[in-house]
Amino acid sequence: MELWQQMVRDSIHSVDQLVEKFGIDRKVAEGLDEFFQARINPYYLSLIREPGDPIWNQCVPDNAELEDIDGFEDPLQEDAMSPVPNITHRYPDRALFLTTSQCGMYCRFCTRKRKVGNSDKISMKELESAFKYLEKHTEIRDVILSGGDPLMLTDTMLEKILKRLRQIPHIEIIRLGTKMPCVLPQRITPKLVEMIKKYHPIYVNTHFNHPWEITPESTKACEMLVNAGIPVNNQAVLMRGVNDDADILRELFIRLLKIRVRPYYLFMADETRGANHFRTSLDKGLEIMFKLRGNISGLAIPHFVIDAPGGGGKIPVLPQYVLHRDEEKIIMRNYKDDLYIYREARGEVKQETIIPIEISNKKNGNGSNGSSKKSKNYKGVTKIDMPVLISTEN
Ligand code: SF4
Repeated sequence: MELWQQMVRDSIHSVDQLVEKFGIDRKVAEGLDEFFQARINPYYLSLIREPGDPIWNQCVPDNAELEDIDGFEDPLQEDAMSPVPNITHRYPDRALFLTTSQCGMYCRFCTRKRKVGNSDKISMKELESAFKYLEKHTEIRDVILSGGDPLMLTDTMLEKILKRLRQIPHIEIIRLGTKMPCVLPQRITPKLVEMIKKYHPIYVNTHFNHPWEITPESTKACEMLVNAGIPVNNQAVLMRGVNDDADILRELFIRLLKIRVRPYYLFMADETRGANHFRTSLDKGLEIMFKLRGNISGLAIPHFVIDAPGGGGKIPVLPQYVLHRDEEKIIMRNYKDDLYIYREARGEVKQETIIPIEISNKKNGNGSNGSSKKSKNYKGVTKIDMPVLISTEN
């Protein structure tokens, strides 16, 4: 047995352990176990500094999960978009391929609770209908292996899947959606990366949410992947009590870049049953994005998106930078909340094609979405005293 497998086996998972280790009331622990079982491996457990900290909140079951009656079991309607078992086909040229129900840790906010944690193994035979679907649908260029976590598969099983996918000529890109570099970096072994790199182009999408998750172990895991030519992107989720703070996310994104992981997406938390206590307002997310833009490198700034409930896909949301637009000009603000005019190309813009925008700007504002109670109308404005730019020698 490899070290990572032993660590999965040594995870906290039982009601007795939840009671003893975290002081959870037995009745509540039983309810939580039935709702969504726990799995906290020794590595991730060692990152907890104190009860209720951002690491604890992501992995230790909480009574609030049982109080959430509003959330959806399948908020993204993945099952409704599943033409055959284990495939979700939402976007024209991409497909999600669920290869296992197991993960190195069970995240309390998981969107796929309904599928994750079931200990039944999926065999290659059961994946056959998924392979057949992928073979038949020549429009699919990009397959994302997910789960659960595909790196919970043994190297042998994962290689069988990769090999089979590489026999399908129209599949150009294979992505591995894995949280292992963050929650159980011991899984990234030299043997694993040697195997994966035979099936390039392979990308890894991983999932760090807090700077404390960047440790010598996770750094080494990401470096091994990148050194094998596997680009690693990060998909974080904005969550109350975990990372709903611009300074925390700034540190996370900067540190990710330093270990050569590109911050790719920041998601608003899904409306998943049992995870309502993690959700923040959209304004909170926009305020954070506004504070990041201009203050850290664009390379460190992810796309901020809402995965639309009902299967609408990822919809980008941005703080409002364009405050007014007519056929002649665009009035916008920069990251310091200073106003600028950009003149439209003469004769290019017709009145009827203009999408009306008239947003108020809060000068010296709150650094948020730019909305304030008092709206300023820019329609008659032809000139704005822009801040004087002082050129500096680099
Ligand atoms: S690793 Fe992903 S699929 Fe597994 S529990 Fe966490 S969020 Fe859910």
